[in-house]
Amino acid sequence: MRDLAGRLDLCAINTATLGYQAPIGETVDAIARAGFGAICPWRREIDADDAGRAAARIRDAGLAVSGYCRSTYFPGATEADRRAAIEDNKRALDQAATLGAPCFVLVVGGLAPGSRDLEDARAQVEAGVAALTEHARALGVTLALEPMHPMYAADRGCLNTLEQALDLAERLEPAPGAAPEIGVAIDVYHVWWDPDLDAQIARAGAARRIMALHVCDWLVPTRDLLTDRGMMGDGVVDIRAIRASIEASGYAGAVEVEIFSAENWWKRPIEETLAVCAERLQSVC
Ligand code: ZN
Repeated sequence: MRDLAGRLDLCAINTATLGYQAPIGETVDAIARAGFGAICPWRREIDADDAGRAAARIRDAGLAVSGYCRSTYFPGATEADRRAAIEDNKRALDQAATLGAPCFVLVVGGLAPGSRDLEDARAQVEAGVAALTEHARALGVTLALEPMHPMYAADRGCLNTLEQALDLAERLEPAPGAAPEIGVAIDVYHVWWDPDLDAQIARAGAARRIMALHVCDWLVPTRDLLTDRGMMGDGVVDIRAIRASIEASGYAGAVEVEIFSAENWWKRPIEETLAVCAERLQSVC
């Protein structure tokens, strides 16, 4: 397992961590000044600016791009809704390529509006991801399925375990070769509880399908389902053990901090949040 002490160049900041307080250019510069090696921007920031200009700013700051967040949800009430989501995701893939992002993170969505049919939502997700593969391949951007904690099955993500995500990746790309086009983004927040986690990490790593590693922490109690994630070390996740398992499986990519924290970290100056991220990455991750 890599030692992160003095190696912030191995670490990335997902810009959601900073609460979108500044335009992307300023955010890029702050992350670079704090010593991190990479950034994972969000679409809202790129849509508010320009992908080419943001890419240049990131390059000039000396940062790599660890990924691009995130997909429009695939399930829809009508065929037209589902088609619109796919087209929107193709545009996001174009932006990911312009940014030089190695992967586009797929948060796949939950039930279609008005539906109680989770199986159908999962089938819609599979069809939607399948519809992106050719476009992604042409751009050289991998599709990173991010399994979501089951508390999000209804509204954010109906892929809820690493096993499910890997099963889907294998159905869509059964013979991946050395550089798979479909993989997974493993976020400790979503998977830490899974009794089968180590086995599925080993499976993902053996197939070289781990595209991203997101870290934060699970707070007890958690006061909001979406925006009360903890800083690494403030909760109950054994982040170091999960990272050890992921790196033992062959992953050598960035360790990316992604914290949704409306009442705490998003209210602090971004320099302060970045400094604490840096310290915790090196001490508890
Ligand atoms: Zn994540």
